Amino acid sequence: MKCIINGRLVLEDKVLDSHAIIFDEKIEKIISEDEINVNDYEVIDAKGNLVLPGLIDMHIHGYLGADASDGDADGIRKMAEGIIQNGVTSWCPTTMTVSKEEIEKAFDTVREVKNSGEYYGSRILGVNSEGPFINEAKKGAQAAEHILKPDADFIKKHSDIVKLFTVAPEVEGALECIEKVAEETDVLISMGHTDASYEEAKCGIEKGVRHTTHLFNAMTALSHRSPGVTGAALSDGRVSTELIADTFHVNKGVFALVSKLKGDKLCLITDCMRAGGMPDGEYSLGGQPVFKEGIKCLMPDGTIAGSVLKLNEAVRNLYENTELEIYEAVNCASLNIAKVLGEDKEIGSLQEGKRADIIITDGKFSVLSTILGGEIRYKGE
Ligand SMILES: [Zn+2]
Repeated sequence: MKCIINGRLVLEDKVLDSHAIIFDEKIEKIISEDEINVNDYEVIDAKGNLVLPGLIDMHIHGYLGADASDGDADGIRKMAEGIIQNGVTSWCPTTMTVSKEEIEKAFDTVREVKNSGEYYGSRILGVNSEGPFINEAKKGAQAAEHILKPDADFIKKHSDIVKLFTVAPEVEGALECIEKVAEETDVLISMGHTDASYEEAKCGIEKGVRHTTHLFNAMTALSHRSPGVTGAALSDGRVSTELIADTFHVNKGVFALVSKLKGDKLCLITDCMRAGGMPDGEYSLGGQPVFKEGIKCLMPDGTIAGSVLKLNEAVRNLYENTELEIYEAVNCASLNIAKVLGEDKEIGSLQEGKRADIIITDGKFSVLSTILGGEIRYKGE
């Protein structure tokens, strides 16, 4: 049995000092430090740093040169090992709007790696299929030639591995698709890459849309006479929203507004592409060239193409630019996402009975150590 002492424990609703967290594969107990005998445990000294639940990235395409759309098992393993250094203990490899054959190959690859259990890093929850049922008018960095008409049977066929997918509710066949997927599967339906009006977005929500792919980016904006998809997502309590909090995709001035409106329905994502964790230079996304410079990734025509954000940095950006308490900012990258994905009985917070997915960070959320299912999987300098 292991035990973390001298940490500031970030629970779902408070920060707890002078308490120890005792765990094996699961969290056994959170208990006052006065009540434990350290000789009974393998002790980890957090040295006054923050102890957080492992983070969950539900929307990440690539890292360290690999991309989930490549359909390469070693690439998936490489990503899983890379993001654990950023404190991410669970994730959804995310496919792009590439050809249907490539998407299915990518699904098969993730299924194979996940089911084999033969990977060392961050736990795979299932695929996030970004598209291919989107609107060309808001394709962003997705390839127009691979956009397909919404097809519920395609999602049903892969519902064992697909956790969520993106659809534009206004395109032909979308409402039928949304209704069928909502009735017949547990797959989370996200609106995104959409040119819908507010009214069209609300129709989608009535049929079963419950999530929003990177709020603000690649969707109709909020204006007072035309609230758009952004207005529908912000105002409807049934709908959770993703946010790329890199301060570039979304100006930090709206972080507080979004967190006030969405509360525990706000989900931080990275939308990271294969240039994540790599030096500046030329990379590719969905078969198209992308240039990385600092925190920016742009296509030759200037279109923003994914990010190189790390999820722990997203927490820092949110925390530093809002009035949120530490635990509220952390929930946006852990518990809120676990709830949205139906995984909160197992993961998402430091709670007795949940998996011991635990990270230790400094006050700026730089990761010092990552523990996955009770095992130390990363230790920084
Ligand atoms: Zn994406």
